[in-house]
Amino acid sequence: MSKGNLIVISGPSGAGKSTVVNKAMSFRDDICFSTSVTTRAPRPGEKDGVDYFFIDQKRFEEMVAGNELLEHAVYVSNSYGTPRKFVEDRLSEGMNVILDIEIQGASQVHKNKPEAVMVFIVPPSIDELRKRLTGRGTETEAAIEARIQRAIQECREADFYDYIIINDDLDKAAEEMSSIINAELCRFDKRRDILNSFGK
Ligand code: 5GP
Repeated sequence: MSKGNLIVISGPSGAGKSTVVNKAMSFRDDICFSTSVTTRAPRPGEKDGVDYFFIDQKRFEEMVAGNELLEHAVYVSNSYGTPRKFVEDRLSEGMNVILDIEIQGASQVHKNKPEAVMVFIVPPSIDELRKRLTGRGTETEAAIEARIQRAIQECREADFYDYIIINDDLDKAAEEMSSIINAELCRFDKRRDILNSFGK
């Protein structure tokens, strides 16, 4: 069993998922983010290889055909996927690897890797979500509305997650994220080896 945890975080776009994880990363060094591939165009300020690997549809389809993606999905007309190798390498090194992915991809991970820890992050309300998406100023009103409708749909389908974090207060949300990771690291199966060593 790999020492690190595979942690899937999902939740409405605008819930502050990456902000929560970045904050948790500022006080612990055993967490890393998986960088996804996407066919979406970069937003102003986004960097290739940092925020995403920005690729075209042809390359995306090659990656799917070559089984290079751990999961993939279409979200509001763009394709997104998680490169498999990076995740497997980091897990085997003992890192806790975070996938920030939407719910269809999360459901694929949940089925294929039942040990994955499923965390749903939500804003305190839909009104707050609308405010955050509008405040970002990077999308048209129609795109924002599509994201809100998708968010409402995702919340209805989120039954298979293990934890919910309400991102009302960033420090508290990051602490909760860190506590979840700690709890998962204390799981019996992860620590069974110590019991075996006592018997020697
Ligand atoms: P955005 O376009 O706002 O960066 O992301 C849109 C949605 O796609 C977010 O909910 C984000 O979590 C999700 N997403 C990002 N990367 C991946 C991925 O590799 N796979 C899946 N299934 N969803 C992703």
